[in-house]
Formats: sequence, C-alpha cells, structure tokens
Amino acid sequence: MIPVTTLKGKKVALFGLGGSGFATARALVAGGADVTAWDDNPDSVAKAASEGIKVADLRTIDWNGLSVFVLSPGVPLTHPKPHWTVDLAHAAGVEIIGDVELFVRERRAHAPDCPFIAITGTNGKSTTTALIAHILQSSGRDTQLGGNIGTAVLTLDPPKAGRFYVVECSSYQIDLAPTLNPSAGILLNLTPDHLDRHGTMQHYADIKERLVAGSDIAVAGIDDSHSSLIADRIERAGGKVMRISRRHALADGLYAEGSRIMRASNGAAKEIADLDGIQTLRGGHNAQNAAAAIAACLAVGLSADEIRAGLKSFPGLKHRMQPVGRRGRVVFVNDSKATNADAAAPALSSYENIYWIAGGLPKEGGITSLAPLFPRISKAYLIGEAAPAFAATLGDRVPYEISGTLERAVAHAAADADKDEHESAAVMLSPACASFDQYKNFEVRGDAFVSHVAAIDGVTMLVGSAAGGK
Ligand code: ADP
Repeated sequence: MIPVTTLKGKKVALFGLGGSGFATARALVAGGADVTAWDDNPDSVAKAASEGIKVADLRTIDWNGLSVFVLSPGVPLTHPKPHWTVDLAHAAGVEIIGDVELFVRERRAHAPDCPFIAITGTNGKSTTTALIAHILQSSGRDTQLGGNIGTAVLTLDPPKAGRFYVVECSSYQIDLAPTLNPSAGILLNLTPDHLDRHGTMQHYADIKERLVAGSDIAVAGIDDSHSSLIADRIERAGGKVMRISRRHALADGLYAEGSRIMRASNGAAKEIADLDGIQTLRGGHNAQNAAAAIAACLAVGLSADEIRAGLKSFPGLKHRMQPVGRRGRVVFVNDSKATNADAAAPALSSYENIYWIAGGLPKEGGITSLAPLFPRISKAYLIGEAAPAFAATLGDRVPYEISGTLERAVAHAAADADKDEHESAAVMLSPACASFDQYKNFEVRGDAFVSHVAAIDGVTMLVGSAAGGK
C-alpha cells in the first residue's frame, strides 16, 4: 500500500467505496489523514465502518474545513450531470481529485525521479500497459503495475528510487488528476467512446490530451486526427514527442511495416523489433500497442535487446485474443472480451481459417459490420439468444450451425478444425455479444471456454486455468 502522507493531519472527504475507493480510504488513513467516507450503498458504508474508517453522510458534514474531496472515477464529475457531492465541493470551493492524483503527489514528494509510465487511449490500454510491465519485469526492473487495469494504484508499493510504475489511466482518472506528470505518457488512439460521460468528442479528447501534455516524453499515436493534432500541439508548445503509427512510415518516430517495428530518426529508419511469430501480438492493432510500448521502454532507459526479449515472451491478456491451447495445426483462441462486433473485428482480422464461436446477448447492429471478414471464417458455431439473428446475417455466405451451448460449440468446432487442410486454423471464441444470457460476465464465459478446450483429447494447454492478466 502507498500511505498518502501528503494529506497527513488534513481533513478529507471521500465518496465512492468500490474497490479503488476502499483502497484509497485505507491509504489516506494509513498516511494520517482525517478521512470521512461515504457511498450510496449502505453495505459499502457498513464495511468501511467495520474497518474503522470514519463514515458520515456527506450532506451533513462541514465542507469548509476540507483540504480536498476525493471522488471515485466511476462517479460522474461532469456528465451526464455532476454528482451531488461534486456540487457540494464546488459550492465550498474544495478541490476534487482521485486516486491517481494522490499517487502522483506521493511520487513527487518521495521519489520524483522514479520512472512512471502512464497509458491512455480509447482502445488497447490494458494490452499496452500489461506489455510494458512485462518487458520491464523480464528485464529485471522492480515493476509496479496498476490503475484502470484492475489493481488500484494506491495498493502498489510506495515510490522509491529505481522503482518503475506502469499505470493505465481511464479518462475519468485523468479528469481527476490535475497534476499528472509521468516520465513517459502514452496516448494510443482516440475514437468516440463513453461520450455519455464526457459530453462531446472534443471534451473527451481534451481530457486525454492532459496525460500526454504533462509528460516528460509524450508517446502519441497519430493514426487518428484527434491524436495527431494533440501531438502537433504538444510539440509546438515545446514538449518532447515520440510519434507512433501502425499505418504510415514516419521520418521521426516508431512505425509498423508489416510485422516489423521501425525506429526512424531524421528520415533514417532501422528495424527495432519484429513481431512475426509472437502469437499474443498478432494484428495491426497490436503493432500500434507494441510500438507504443517500445517507445515508452526506450524513454525510460531500456535497451533494444531487453525490449525484444520482453516482446517475445509476452503471455498476453486473459480473454483478449489469447491463445489458450493448441492441437496440431489448430490454435484455440479466447477473445471473450469482444462483447460487440467492433471488438470482434481485430481478432477475426488477425487469423484465417477460423472456426468461429459467436453469440450470446446480441447488441444493436448484430454482426452485419463484420461482413468483409466473413471470407476468413470456415464455419460459425452460434450460441445463446443471438443465434437465430446471426444465422440470418450469415445466410449462405458462411457455413454455420446453431450449437446452442458453448460446450457443444467448442467440441464441434474442434472436430471440424481437425479436418482442416490448411497450414493453420483457429478455433476462436470472439462472441460479438454480451454474455449475460448464459454467463455472469465475459470473464466467466472465457474461463468456461478454456475449460472446454482443456477437456478436448490431445490438446496442449498454453495457459493454466487461472493464467493471464486483468
Ligand atoms: P482497453 O483496455 O483500452 O479496453 P484492451 O487492451 O483491453 O483495451 O483491448 C480490448 C480490445 O480492443 C481487444 O480485444 C481488441 O479487440 C481491441 N484493441 C486492442 N488494441 C487496440 C488498438 N490499438 N486499436 C484498436 N483496437 C484495439
């Protein structure tokens, strides 16, 4: 845990006692702050009280004596409308911050030079964060991995010289971190997402920009216009920028050329890594993630050899295009996180001769947008409520069966893939649907897939049942 020493003896109010809120309350108490915590959920309040955390309805406290108000990132700061606690903080002129801000203040107070890489973007955050942490760890660096990826940042070990932090930041966390100043900040890409919580695309982009604008080195994807303009703006303001692209050669920066990642300086380019054969980094989207990870690792002093070794042994993240088993030429891939058609597209683009398990609780639009990828699918195995609608979309373009359950789909797909005569084939769960009709969540669905794969005769498992990331 990182005790929050910078608020020692100060009065602090905190709202939101979910996982990270709880960890924050504990870290504040451990550092000697006088914290009053609250949540709309009485169970969370009771749990905090039972741990000795002071609780009170924040409508009833004196806001004028507070040093700061700490808000959980899940609670609306601006959109669709500010939470009632935000209105009270504004009325009393109290600063509103989140756990990432508390972390950066601790780092500044105790180890301002310890390397700190922060990652944001619309897609690929967790993969890039996990990849960077893996490269650092495998090079023997003391590495702390946390933030939006699932480990609350204040549960990590305290900042000290030589310790490396890799922190995934959602836009909500950036919004609550006014002095965020990583050694290397990554903005991967920007596409419309979560606009319900941010109002407009411009506001969403402005928030993300703050992470890279505050960095010693800004690593910026330039394949979308918002991110590209942000890179230009930071450079014009005198900031150091490392551009990355998965689509175009660059005169300066890192870019993908097929599976090769090139590093260019003053127009001269040299290969720094080749992703060919790295199963966990297949696809153009992962070339973007890998290029960003390489840029950040170079920025904090790793050698090209250390980076190449880490890329090669990256185990991938659980439920995201994760190779989980193999039988002969057939690889079994768990992409359970793909809960809509857009999210399933990268996996379908990254393999050929696919025995595709899809279905669950359908989302608007179904799988019509995936039609250009249908030629890559040898056969589809449809499950859950979406099966009839997906069958209608596939029509006579892709052979399919309505398997009903995941267990039957895995068994049938494995048997069919076994007879495939190509050099390689993939049995892939990339459902393009939510899981709730048959499973508690996408993680449980992915774990079920892994155990059905493990039950097939002759399969060599590439993961244990609890392996992987997040
Ligand atoms: P996030 O943490 O931003 O949600 P993840 O790393 O968990 O992203 O990846 C989630 C899904 O997003 C992946 O399964 C893949 O389909 C897609 N994805 C990953 N990286 C990228 C990228 N750089 N660009 C576009 N899509 C991506």
